[in-house]
Amino acid sequence: MTVFFIGAGPGDPDLITVKGARLVESCPVVLYTGSLVPKEVVARAREDALVLSSEEMDLDEIIQVCVDAHEKGQDVARVQTGDLSIYSSLAETTRRLDKLQIDWKVVPGVSSFQASAAALGQELTLPEQCQTIILSRASGRTPVPEKESLKSLAQHEATLCLFLSASLIRKVARELKEVYPGSWPVAVVEKASHPEQRILRGTLDTIVEQVEGAGIRATAMIIVSKVLDTTEFRDSRLYAAEFTHGFRRARISDAEVSHE
Ligand code: SAH
Repeated sequence: MTVFFIGAGPGDPDLITVKGARLVESCPVVLYTGSLVPKEVVARAREDALVLSSEEMDLDEIIQVCVDAHEKGQDVARVQTGDLSIYSSLAETTRRLDKLQIDWKVVPGVSSFQASAAALGQELTLPEQCQTIILSRASGRTPVPEKESLKSLAQHEATLCLFLSASLIRKVARELKEVYPGSWPVAVVEKASHPEQRILRGTLDTIVEQVEGAGIRATAMIIVSKVLDTTEFRDSRLYAAEFTHGFRRARISDAEVSHE
């Protein structure tokens, strides 16, 4: 018996992996995070499966579902939004399962930061301009360690993807403006990959009004990055004719190419 933690993806039911979908189809117990996981994903469950929403459950109750299934020798599909590596409560759940000697495995999913980048049609890294993506959140009711404050993360000028922060947009803009000019680009994607997806593009100076005006408070990704308005960048080495890598030999030798 195994508890499978399955990333359901950001909302579009087609964005679960084939592996995740097969497990939802075969597990006799399916425990999903209520409104965040699309109904179509859970509708894949067997007709005789026990399908439960964890929306109203606390951690003890979630563990109890796993214990009951364990006693019956039944696999559990624990279906959660996006990918399990980011703000998913995976760690606190699996440490309980380990104590109870219940086996578990993780099946990755498409995270909402990836779906948001796709909605924007935006590569979050650009050759020589930005080569790092920081996934974080603003500090609110859930505190963030001081060393990870937005002000300190901003020093890197890496692409910032902020989860769980739409209702804190005013604070986000204020803190980032201590490091960046007001013209620094920001995009907000609400409900990426859902039919009701909305995209706002602006700057640190304009985004608060835009987000508040649109009434966006949750299920939104804030992306702060110079890549959003950078049009001048070099081609990457990946497809460069003179560049040899594991799968492709150079067409011109590196020595023939002048590097300034
Ligand atoms: N594990 C999830 C994140 C859970 S935290 C993942 O990998 O995506 C919940 C936060 O994720 C929300 O506050 C919001 O910032 C973001 N989020 C989840 N679904 C989203 C979507 N469809 N579009 C934009 N942001 C989303």
